[in-house]
Amino acid sequence: MSDNDRVPRPIPADLRPRLPSPLTEVDDARFARHGVRLLLKRDDLIHPDLIGNKWRKLAPNLEAAHGRALVTFGGAYSNHLRATAAAGRLLGVPTLGIVRGQELAERPLNASLARCTADGMRLHFVDRSTYRKKNDPEVLAALLDATGATDAYVVPEGGSNALAVRGCTDLGRELRGHAEVVALACGTGGTLAGLAAGLAPDQRALGVCVLKGGFLEADVRALQQAAFGGPRGTWQVNDRFHFGGYARVPAELASFADDFERRHGLPVEHLYVAKMLYALVVLTGEGAFPPGTTVAAVVTGAPFGDAQSSTSR
Ligand SMILES: *Cc1c(COP(=O)(O)O)cnc(C)c1O
Repeated sequence: MSDNDRVPRPIPADLRPRLPSPLTEVDDARFARHGVRLLLKRDDLIHPDLIGNKWRKLAPNLEAAHGRALVTFGGAYSNHLRATAAAGRLLGVPTLGIVRGQELAERPLNASLARCTADGMRLHFVDRSTYRKKNDPEVLAALLDATGATDAYVVPEGGSNALAVRGCTDLGRELRGHAEVVALACGTGGTLAGLAAGLAPDQRALGVCVLKGGFLEADVRALQQAAFGGPRGTWQVNDRFHFGGYARVPAELASFADDFERRHGLPVEHLYVAKMLYALVVLTGEGAFPPGTTVAAVVTGAPFGDAQSSTSR
């Protein structure tokens, strides 16, 4: 990392984060009986509106945008869309959200998209095939043209670009000396790519993929290449705990999350955090972590409204 990257960035008061995020130990027999300590890295407490990794990924992009309007992409329940809309409100800059699913335009907005518009975000709905091609320069140019956003700063889906990945290295640095294994849920893999780069050499990151597909490792490698010029840190991806795919929350997972909340008072977000915690319970039971291991679980987000109840889609 160059000295340039260490220059403190001015952050408007309303966007100021609580950093480092708290690290707390939980007492849970499912871990203790295997000699494993479980810590929760409470990134969900960084900021009330830009929650968890969304703050870490957006902050450097907001700086780079220099007050220009923001355009980004997401699905009907995207935490990233809500975070971007909130950032726009707090910074006083216009935001445009390009949303996957033309059919959503004809229905009442769900709570997540309604929050986006309440924060001033303009929504533009596109069909799934156009959405898939949004990174194609011609498709993107046409979308920006059609929405009058040609001068806007474009943040990719999920907020994961090189700046975002570098923004997540601080998450790893905050965890140095505290755990041998750091676990987190992965969507685009941007947070894992940055976190792994910030850890000490004797620590490793374990990414729990919430999507079905198995392409995440290549994505993380590409993100590290773009952010750092090559591979960084020790990390791996586990593909066993997607529960059928993105936003699939079978009853078994929902009750696991409710139970974890009852035991530990942690509001468990279902689409990502619940899958990661479930994975840790299963892996610990299988003996994946030797006795004496400390595992830090990153709480990357918090529950939001009806996004929790999307049982099967
Ligand atoms: C967006 C999100 C993730 C995934 O982060 P990536 O950097 O895209 O892998 C994980 N957890 C929560 C709660 C999120 O909102």
